[in-house]
Amino acid sequence: MIKFKFTLVLFLAIFAAKAQNPLLNLKYEQNYTPTYSEVIKMYQLLDAKYENAKLVEKGLTDVGKPLHTFIINSENEFDPVKIKAQGKAVLLINNGIHPGEPAGIDASLQFADDILRDKNGLASLLKSCVIVIIPAYNIGGLLNRSAYNRSGQTTPYETGFRGNAANLDLNRDFVKCDSENAKSFTKIFQEWNPDIFLDTHTTNGSDHQYSVTLIAPQPNMFPPTQEKFLREKMIPDLFSEMKKGEYELIPYVSWMFRDPKRGIKMDQFSGRYSSGYASIFNSYGMMTENHVYKIYADRVKSCYQFINVLANFTSENADDIIESRKKGFEESMSTKEYAIDSEIDTTVFTEIEFKGYEVDANQISPVTGLKRFGYDRSKPYTNSINFYDVHNATEMVRIPEFYILPQAWKTVIERLVLSKVEFQRLQNDTILEVDIYYIEEFSNAKRPSNGHYFHNKVTTRSETQKINYYAGDLIIPVRQKRIKYLIEMLEPKAKDSFFRWNFFDNILDSREYFSSYGFEENALKYLDQHPEFKKEFQEKQKLDPEFAKNHRAQLAYIYYNTEWAEKTYKRYPVGKLF
Ligand SMILES: [Zn+2]
Repeated sequence: MIKFKFTLVLFLAIFAAKAQNPLLNLKYEQNYTPTYSEVIKMYQLLDAKYENAKLVEKGLTDVGKPLHTFIINSENEFDPVKIKAQGKAVLLINNGIHPGEPAGIDASLQFADDILRDKNGLASLLKSCVIVIIPAYNIGGLLNRSAYNRSGQTTPYETGFRGNAANLDLNRDFVKCDSENAKSFTKIFQEWNPDIFLDTHTTNGSDHQYSVTLIAPQPNMFPPTQEKFLREKMIPDLFSEMKKGEYELIPYVSWMFRDPKRGIKMDQFSGRYSSGYASIFNSYGMMTENHVYKIYADRVKSCYQFINVLANFTSENADDIIESRKKGFEESMSTKEYAIDSEIDTTVFTEIEFKGYEVDANQISPVTGLKRFGYDRSKPYTNSINFYDVHNATEMVRIPEFYILPQAWKTVIERLVLSKVEFQRLQNDTILEVDIYYIEEFSNAKRPSNGHYFHNKVTTRSETQKINYYAGDLIIPVRQKRIKYLIEMLEPKAKDSFFRWNFFDNILDSREYFSSYGFEENALKYLDQHPEFKKEFQEKQKLDPEFAKNHRAQLAYIYYNTEWAEKTYKRYPVGKLF
C-alpha cells in the first residue's frame, strides 16, 4: 500500500513537472492584440526557452523588415528537407495577412506557447507533424496601427491596416507576386511544400451564431484521390472534431441568396488567394474566417480550437495526407485535359445544420433612423439548410507537353523561377512549329485593382505557326509537379493567369501601322503582284458602296488582309508543343 502511494506521488510529480507554466502574457481577454514588435519579442522568448522551436528570418517585405517563420518540431532540427525525409507532415499557418483581422496572430502565439510547454500532452502531435507559423505576414500593415482601421468592428481596440507598405492587398497577390512579402512567401511555401496550409482571417459578411467559419479546400480543384480524401475524410473530420469542443464550426457563409436560410455555397478561390494558391500545388489550403460580431476573446479561442483540431488531424493522418498528395501529383501530371473554368452545381447539395439569426430587411438604423437590411439577434434559430459544394467544369484546355516562352518576358520568368518550375533553355536559334493563341477580345477594368487593369473577359483563337525562337528561350516541360501552376498561369483564359494580370499587355497594341499616303506605293505594288487578292479587293469595291467611298478603309483592307499585317499583334507569346 505504501509503495503504491509512493508511486502515485512520484507519477503526479512527474506529470505536474511536465507541463510548464505559460511563457507569454497575451491580453486578448482585455481586447488587446499585440503590436508587431511585441509579436516578434514573444516568439523570441519561446525560441530562447525551447530547444525544439526556432524563429527564422526568411526574406524581406515591402516595408523593409524581414518575414519570419517560427518552426516547432519534436527535436532540435529545423531543416525542411531533413524533417520531410522523416515522413512528417507539414502544417503551415499564415497570420496577419489582413492586420485588422488579428485573431490568428493571438491564437497562434497561444498555441505555440501551449504546445511547447506540453499543455494537455499537446506536444505528442509533433511526433508525426511539424508546425511552421508565419507570425505576421503583412508587417507594413501591422505597423500602420490605429483605432480607426476597421470600421466594421469594435474590438480589439487597435489593429493594423489592410494594405501593406505598397498598399497592396496581400490576399490578392499570391500568384502575381508584386510584393516582396509575396516573393518571400513563395520561397517559404516552395521550401516547405506544406501538406496543410491555413491562412487566418476575420469576416463581417453576415450575422449568425458561430464564432469561427471555414473556407475549406474546394474538392473539385483537386485530382480524384485528393478530392475523395477531402470529401470523405478531411472536411467531415474537421467539422465533427470541432463539434466536440466549445466552438462549433460552420462553412464560411457565402451567399447564394440574401438570407442564408435559403442555402449557402462553397466557392472556389483562385490563385490570387492564399487557399487557391495552395491548391495549385496540391496542398490542402484553407482560410478560417472568424466572425467579427463575436467578442474578441471568443474569436481568438475559436481560432485556437481550430488550429488545435487541424494540427491533431495533420498529425493523426500524416501518412494518409502525404500519400494522397503523392497520388494527387501523379494524377495531375498524367491528365490530358484541365478545367480552367467552372460553375457551382445548383442541383446538388447536402443539408447542414445552421444556427442563424432571422433576417430583418426593415430594421431601423439607430444612426439615421432609416430602414436597412440586418439580422435580429433576439430571434436565433437552428435550421437545416442547403449547402452547395460541387463545381462543374465549364471550360477545358488540352494539356501540351511543352510551353515555349521567349526570354523577353522576364517578369514572368522571375515568377516561374521563384515557384521552382523546371525548364531548359534553347541552345541554338531554332524555328519551331507551335500552337499559338491570338487574343481576340479582352476587357479592361475601368479602375485599377491592386496595381493592375485586370482583363475580366478574354477570348482566343488558335493557329499553328512556324516561329523563330532564340538561344536562351525557355522550353518548359508541362508534366512536372508544377503542372497546375503552369496551366493556371500560362493559359491566358485561366482565372488568374499572367495574361489577365497584364504581364503580357505589350502584345495588345500594334507597333507599326500604315499612312493613308505613304502606304500607297507598296499597296499598289502588292495588288499588281497578287492578282487573286486584287480581284477580291475589286469585288469588295463593287459590292460594298460604303467601302468604295472610303479611301482609308480600302488601304486598311489591304494592310490587314495581307502579309503587311503584324503577325505579333495580339499574338500570345507562349507557344505550345503537343
Ligand atoms: Zn481577411
